[in-house]
Amino acid sequence: MKYITNIIRILFFALFLFLLANGKVMLWLALFVVSLFLALIFGRIYCGYVCPMNTLMILTQWLSKKLKIKTLSAPRWLKNGYFSWITLVISVATMLISKKLFHINLPIMLFWLIISVLFTLRYKPSVFHNLICPFGALQRTFGKLTLFSKSVNKDLCIGCRLCENVCTMDAISVIGKDKKAVINPALCYQCNSCQKICPKSAIHYRKK
Ligand code: SF4
Ligand code: SF4
Repeated sequence: MKYITNIIRILFFALFLFLLANGKVMLWLALFVVSLFLALIFGRIYCGYVCPMNTLMILTQWLSKKLKIKTLSAPRWLKNGYFSWITLVISVATMLISKKLFHINLPIMLFWLIISVLFTLRYKPSVFHNLICPFGALQRTFGKLTLFSKSVNKDLCIGCRLCENVCTMDAISVIGKDKKAVINPALCYQCNSCQKICPKSAIHYRKK
């Protein structure tokens, strides 16, 4: 399954590079818009399987681990959660202005691709995913309403926190008096890491 997931990511990354090289990056943005509607049904699968930034961030994370670089949590100024909306507004405005004034389709995603890699070298991936990425701001909003998502069977969960520790999106918290894991569908990008690691097979992808 891991190999299939990686192959899917690499194929979409290759498609992104192809569109970028041929000046058709607007087609990728159209794909992104479609993915927002799919997020209403399947959750944030764009972020987990399609996004070229996530693919490069996974590679960067792997490299950081090999080089034993300690990554940091979010700085305080980012924690209020508004910054990704600001980056979204700035990105859209920059694209519209460059189109209107200079008649060019600015490859804004290339810029964010570089930023995402630089941030992942210094900070935990959830910092970029949840607090900076302009595309993530929209995916969170639509993903919150998803019909299907990873979720925890509380009768089986023993609160061991393995899933919480493995989730790069900070989408799982073990909470409550009874210490049960809860998944936030707005943050979950529907990878399989938590499901694979759960010793009680308490996590499944199902209707909310
Ligand atoms: S580890 Fe689980 S909760 Fe976290 S993003 Fe992946 S599927 Fe979602
Ligand atoms: S890994 Fe499984 S048993 Fe452990 S806290 Fe997560 S859902 Fe519960």
